[in-house]
Amino acid sequence: MIDKIDHIGVAVHSIEEGRKLYESLGLEVEHIEEVESEGVRVAMIPCGESKIELLEPTRDDSPIAKFLEKRGPGIHHVCLGSDDIDADDRRLRAEGVRVLRPEPTIGAGGCRVQFVHPKSAGGVLLELSEPPANDP
Ligand code: ZN
Repeated sequence: MIDKIDHIGVAVHSIEEGRKLYESLGLEVEHIEEVESEGVRVAMIPCGESKIELLEPTRDDSPIAKFLEKRGPGIHHVCLGSDDIDADDRRLRAEGVRVLRPEPTIGAGGCRVQFVHPKSAGGVLLELSEPPANDP
């Protein structure tokens, strides 16, 4: 079941530049990590029960690098928090929704994630994320 907006993913050329505005607003970067498989550095900035996720490419052929090349910096995806991503993944598939991965994979922060193609989500790249604490 989906229970909140977990975070908003924002593509940036530089986390060091991108974080400044949020820090001016009194928010703090919780942690920064590299997700090697995605070619991306990720900075999580908690904001109430949601977060801002800054995404900086680490190589030219990564999905974020391609996004920046085509569209420039800006909102990349919206992430919905799930308490059972396998069930949500199955439900979407059963309804013919186009998901990007054969099954949920491990993303930033050890969360299990799946993505819904923008063509199936009104033009929005939708991420579903289940925190690691929910793993059996
Ligand atoms: Zn995300």
